Amino acid sequence: MRRISHFINGAVVEGNSGRCGPVFNPAEGVQTAEVDFASAAEVDKAVEAARVAWPAWRATSLSRRVEVMFRARELFSQKRRDLGAVITSEHGKVLSDAMGEIARGLENIEYACGVPELMKGGFSEQASTGVDVYSIRQPLGVVAGITPFNFPAMVPMWMFSNALACGNCFILKPSEKDPSAALFMADLLTEAGIPPGVFQVVQGDKVAVDRLIEHPDIAAISFVGSTPIARSIYERGTAQGKRVQALGGAKNHMVVLPDADLDMAADAAVSAGYGSAGERCMAISVVVAVGEVGDKLVDAITDRLGKIKIGGGMDETSEMGPLVTREHRDKVASYLDAGASEGARIVADGRSKSFEGDGFFLGCSLLDDVKPGMKVYTDEIFGPVLSVVRAETYEDAVNLINDNPYGNGVAIFTRDGGAARRFQFEVNVGMVGVNVPIPVPVAYYSFGGWKSSLFGDTHMYGPDGVHFYTRTKVITSRWPDPATSKVDLGFPQNREAK
Ligand code: NAD
Repeated sequence: MRRISHFINGAVVEGNSGRCGPVFNPAEGVQTAEVDFASAAEVDKAVEAARVAWPAWRATSLSRRVEVMFRARELFSQKRRDLGAVITSEHGKVLSDAMGEIARGLENIEYACGVPELMKGGFSEQASTGVDVYSIRQPLGVVAGITPFNFPAMVPMWMFSNALACGNCFILKPSEKDPSAALFMADLLTEAGIPPGVFQVVQGDKVAVDRLIEHPDIAAISFVGSTPIARSIYERGTAQGKRVQALGGAKNHMVVLPDADLDMAADAAVSAGYGSAGERCMAISVVVAVGEVGDKLVDAITDRLGKIKIGGGMDETSEMGPLVTREHRDKVASYLDAGASEGARIVADGRSKSFEGDGFFLGCSLLDDVKPGMKVYTDEIFGPVLSVVRAETYEDAVNLINDNPYGNGVAIFTRDGGAARRFQFEVNVGMVGVNVPIPVPVAYYSFGGWKSSLFGDTHMYGPDGVHFYTRTKVITSRWPDPATSKVDLGFPQNREAK
């Protein structure tokens, strides 16, 4: 059985904890590898290598760090297909989607290539007579990223691009479900010129995460995953005095107003609901049909579902792949009975579609007449199940969304600019799309939800990412000038004492 190990201090290091987990090819339903689970002592080795590597990396000139990031950008771009195939083989998403996630991740490396501009401080000349005041941004030291299964390349790229460019050493703990992309990226970063110890990978589960949270030499933790774990990591990490940004789960709504372009809205609902088999934190999981649009919209979505080609991710004709594991597929499927028993109407039942082989496939499902209290509404299903909630008015739609505990992404479909503007003003969600179903911000803005979708003060990547991975220092300086030197025991101030 192929073994997937750690990447510590510039080399692949086999685990010695005696613990490991299975990795599957979801399209075939077979185990393809075993991934080592790090012990606390193995995490400590990586942290120590990072601690040793940090002084030289932070002292590396900005222009040299930029050169390395530019090279990384070229290598990731050249190897996009190979990295995409690695993702498809363990996650299951179709190859074009895997390459799409790398393309979005690449934006973050490109953004980080501008780090000399991004890390610039401020300078105030003559703040007081002969006194200048200036601020500088410095890296934090050794930082860690803990990432989910659904974007095994893009989410780490959200984190490490800015972390490394700003002069930190970064330790990645990827999902144990699809751990190979992390090692592939470690190779690319090494080839680009990232020194040993500056980017490392520790594979594993809660044991590794707990040690990263507790280790005194880890200055900051970025986490992306489900809400209960995000909340716990935020609480425990900050209690240890660490800087933490922890992004959690989602329940993203798409409001369709009666004046919307129906075909455009139906296309968007299907693309955003079923793309990557619904395993995206920005997937649309609830369509809120306002007023008389409901029946026509449900028909238009249903028409499109029959045409989606579901199959193995390496088959270029496939539009949707399998789910990540058998257990997850079965859990997602179980929501259909749960929904029906609470009064939702199953319009399309993905369980009725048959597939050859043992892959973790599930067809596309559509539930209508879903109501807020139902389990299918309250839970993040994270699969190809789209719910339709009927709302009488725009106000009902906004209240529904604002009452939801999550606040990651939301979209409104309308031709009315005034309604869209009012929506962006009123809705309590961090990322809003106007006739755009998956409003993932470009790399020069920052990504983050509100409410239970994010714990912490900063969003991820973009300006917030640079802010998160640096801290400011303010220097007040005066150069000796014999003409103005005197003893003065008063508190330093700029105004004339009256
Ligand atoms: P998950 O929370 O199960 O795992 C995320 C990471 O935490 C993994 O590295 C995992 O090994 C680790 N982990 C799991 N259990 C842990 C525990 N008890 N203690 C410490 N660490 C633990 O999430 P997942 O299933 O890999 O990913 C799907 C979830 O991620 C969904 O809820 C999705 O919405 C969310 N997500 C959110 C965003 C966002 O930007 N808000 C982006 C992608 C995914």
